[in-house]
Amino acid sequence: MIVVMKPGATEKQIAHVIERIQDLGLREHVIVGTERTVVAALGEKRDGAKQALENSEGVDKVVPILAPYKMASTEVKAEPTCVEVRDLKVGRGHLGVIAGPCSVESRAQILELATLVREAGGAGLRGGAFKPRTSPYSFQGLKEKGLELLAEARDKTGLAVVTEVMAPEHVPLVARYADVLQIGARNMQNYPLLEAAGESEMPVLLKRGPSATMDEFLLAAEYVLKTGNTRVMLCERGIRTFEDHTRFTLPLASVPYLHQTTHLPIVVDPSHGTGKASLVAPMAVASVAAGADGLIVEVHPDPEKALSDGFQALTPTAFRDMMTKCRTVANVVGRKFGV
Ligand code: PEP
Ligand code: MN
Repeated sequence: MIVVMKPGATEKQIAHVIERIQDLGLREHVIVGTERTVVAALGEKRDGAKQALENSEGVDKVVPILAPYKMASTEVKAEPTCVEVRDLKVGRGHLGVIAGPCSVESRAQILELATLVREAGGAGLRGGAFKPRTSPYSFQGLKEKGLELLAEARDKTGLAVVTEVMAPEHVPLVARYADVLQIGARNMQNYPLLEAAGESEMPVLLKRGPSATMDEFLLAAEYVLKTGNTRVMLCERGIRTFEDHTRFTLPLASVPYLHQTTHLPIVVDPSHGTGKASLVAPMAVASVAAGADGLIVEVHPDPEKALSDGFQALTPTAFRDMMTKCRTVANVVGRKFGV
């Protein structure tokens, strides 16, 4: 339920409503707006709760939240959320670009790419140090060494480091080096991980599971939001379909659909979404046209020699070219592109 306070409701009246919500065994989430304050009452539905709250002083009305995801919903917060960390701004008119290798491989590799990304107008540096690989025999990432290299690249360029955390027990370690915790597609419904990432108070980039519905995706985000951490970005990275001309199928209708249902910013990953380097730039441009708030893109100095996902990595030249095209389209759709 949402308790909509009257304009000019006093602090005392709001505090009383919060107390009543807690008495009813529900949890409050206060949103202070420019005109009025609303207090969301979250938890299992209770008989009589609506009436009990409606009668409190300073309350205008109590309306049910229809969406199963409460805090993510535009019903609770209509104004778009912008996630901001260092120069990376994602949402509310800002289109932030996160780019870098699939995996951190060496000092030279990550420093070269960080410079490239910065010069091309990106504000986030991606790179996996802990890699979720389909085969246990594939390169698993440089682990803490990789995190150290990412932090060094951040110190040199000012880019915000976006890197995956695969297990709840790794959250403190990854949070020490990263600016944004990436939760990978395979872990979208790893609830202990979502809670641990939320509790870290770090911004979170949550990737859509390849077979997750939009409701499942938003409910996964809700696990992070429920901890009180509101800095969540949703990432469409493609889903598994019968189609086999691409690695995954990238459903760009997710972008406007999510904008209608949630205030959280939407990032698109055209690299994993297509799995083919030649398709990445066109789909990045299409994502911008569809209203994406951010892009996360894989780039490698020498894709043929990449230790993971080389087939979908852009070369530096192709990346610069993609950035130019995306910037043009961003101007048309009224988004501030990159830095
Ligand atoms: C990645 O970003 O490197 C990655 C592993 O992505 P996903 O979780 O979407 O497969
Ligand atoms: Mn990858």
